[in-house]
Amino acid sequence: MPARRVYLETYGCQMNVADSELIVGALGRAGYEPAASPEDADVLLVNTCAVRDNAEQRVIGRMGELQRFKRPGGVLGVVGCMAQRLGARLLEEVPRVDLVVGPDAYRNLPRLIALAADGERVTDTAFRAWEHYEDVPPVRPPGATQFVTVQRGCDYRCTFCIVPYTRGPERSRTLEDVVAEVRSLASGGATEVTLLGQTVNSWRADGNDFADLLRAVGTVDGIRRVRFTSPYPTDFTQRVIAAMAETEAVCEHVHLPAQSGSNRTLRRMLRRYTRERFLEVVGELRAAIPGITFSTDLIAGFPGETEADFAETLSLVQEAGFDDAYTFRYSVREGTPAVKLRDHVPEEVAAERLERLIAVVRTAARRRNLARVGTVHETLVERPSRRGGFLLGRTRGNHLVLLDLPASALGGYRQVRLTGTTGSTFTGEVVAPQLAVL
Ligand code: SF4
Repeated sequence: MPARRVYLETYGCQMNVADSELIVGALGRAGYEPAASPEDADVLLVNTCAVRDNAEQRVIGRMGELQRFKRPGGVLGVVGCMAQRLGARLLEEVPRVDLVVGPDAYRNLPRLIALAADGERVTDTAFRAWEHYEDVPPVRPPGATQFVTVQRGCDYRCTFCIVPYTRGPERSRTLEDVVAEVRSLASGGATEVTLLGQTVNSWRADGNDFADLLRAVGTVDGIRRVRFTSPYPTDFTQRVIAAMAETEAVCEHVHLPAQSGSNRTLRRMLRRYTRERFLEVVGELRAAIPGITFSTDLIAGFPGETEADFAETLSLVQEAGFDDAYTFRYSVREGTPAVKLRDHVPEEVAAERLERLIAVVRTAARRRNLARVGTVHETLVERPSRRGGFLLGRTRGNHLVLLDLPASALGGYRQVRLTGTTGSTFTGEVVAPQLAVL
């Protein structure tokens, strides 16, 4: 078969970015080559997100644009969570789409693309609870920092969330497979890995738990930093906290999704903790890991949320001491249990609450960040910044720092003094030469 060229666009979370690397790997094995633009491609694929309605609307709009580039005999396909959620309905909604493939069917893509190229309109949205893509080598851009999927799917049933219906049941890769992948990344130059899973700290395989995984990955030669996202608050066992504290490579930052600060709302969301338990977990992590920072996810305007409930979310921002928060207005997701809840909050009320929430998060972050100016942090120089000539580095606590360094510094570590802050990011100056990679 002559090499065919594939153009792939990715929307949504880090897990989707990692899945796109798998898709490129699966298609590369079958003789496909990546195309840099839709004009150059025989196969056009969009890897989609279903978490919020506006993400889906954006993709529908983008599919309308991409179909203009479809060649005779070419293929236009939707893959990922939105493909899983809508299935064959997508074939009706976007007339020139030929292919709809969910997250558990990527290994079938070469065969399905061939069918679509022959004129069939195909869907594959079956869940395969055994699927880890262990034998599919992801194709990643080279770099010091890499993402490794350790778990797929989710067994929680938060009432607002579509993920259990788009990614299927939770399953964990084995410790040996994850460690082998991290070793191979380290031998290719990676020094930082982020372990990915929907509730990553509930990872469990062959009698090993997440504490074992952190210790094993954290001691791979060449790995200097380990991060993970996203954990579930009450899956932080004492063993996991001890492993974080005792494994030098594990960074002092946790993205800890709270969603709400109100017990009433947390119950309606079917989050399996109270505000008090959430704060206890924050306290346990702070006590064990000096200097640890937290970011979170918060939803404004969940069905039934009163002004008093919302005030508890605002006060949680202060009490937990989040450094950053991804804030969202509740988005109705057809097929999730929350659709059936009564007392949906009017859109204008939810929008106004979101604005207030953003303001409180920003003010709190600014105050905390101002107090950090003057402190010194190990910083990985990650990428060029959009601000001319500067590079962007990241501290172990997950703060971004603008650095005036030459491009040759990319991928290296520096000791950096924070010299100022815009409120969210920092400026910094190097106070020590390049640190040797472990
Ligand atoms: S834990 Fe809840 S919010 Fe997270 S992916 Fe699972 S169902 Fe969704």
